[in-house]
Amino acid sequence: MQILLGAAFAAVIALVAYRAGVLSAGGAAAAFVVGAIVFGAQGWPGAAVLFAFFLPSTLLSRLGASRKRALRELAKQGPRDAWQVLANGGAAAVAAILALHGGPRFACAFAGAFAAASADTWGTEIGTLSRRPPLRALTLRAVSPGMSGGITPLGTLATLAGALCVALVARLAGVAPFWPVAIAGVAGAALDSLLGASLQATRWCPSCARECETNPHDCGTPTQLRRGLRWLENDGVNLAATLCGALSAFALAGLT
Ligand SMILES: [Zn+2]
Repeated sequence: MQILLGAAFAAVIALVAYRAGVLSAGGAAAAFVVGAIVFGAQGWPGAAVLFAFFLPSTLLSRLGASRKRALRELAKQGPRDAWQVLANGGAAAVAAILALHGGPRFACAFAGAFAAASADTWGTEIGTLSRRPPLRALTLRAVSPGMSGGITPLGTLATLAGALCVALVARLAGVAPFWPVAIAGVAGAALDSLLGASLQATRWCPSCARECETNPHDCGTPTQLRRGLRWLENDGVNLAATLCGALSAFALAGLT
């Protein structure tokens, strides 16, 4: 019964997000699967944790939209596609299933995965608006706003807030204790920044004469690899970050 209710509920949310231009058709399909699994396996408390990630992230992506468009034609823009949804929600969905029989540590991993996705999204969406030029994590050299691996004081504060938001809701909903989830969220976002500054593919658009992260660039020109691993793009880094959040929360839950 709960699975049917969860599927219906997830379908409504995915459809609304699709109509609002937040998700592509593929993204809506992936969100439906993730939402149905989370709700079906974890009920309303799990859905509350999902929303603690999804709602603020969606609103924040709209914040300062015109400035962001001007700044970063580099990362993927527009509606979230299926890979982006799975990179952010896939680890949490798997943990939600494992928590059915595996117990509270898996529930903590579930919340930790969303805390990492939330921390990273808040850090990116708010940090991009920083007036201060971002520095590349690891080298602390200046980097173009919006490029992965760039950090600002404002973005770092937002990262903490994003992790705390999910941790608070997870605690209030009775899904998981506060600190393991909060710390796991920050750990996941930190890994995201480190990978973004090191192994993630950085590309060069010859016609715009600027660095970017996609091939082709938004302008349509094919781009060349400059640094990093050809196959490691934003979605792969996000997946690593949410897995890190899940594993950290799982490990920390064993300590409390
Ligand atoms: Zn270009």
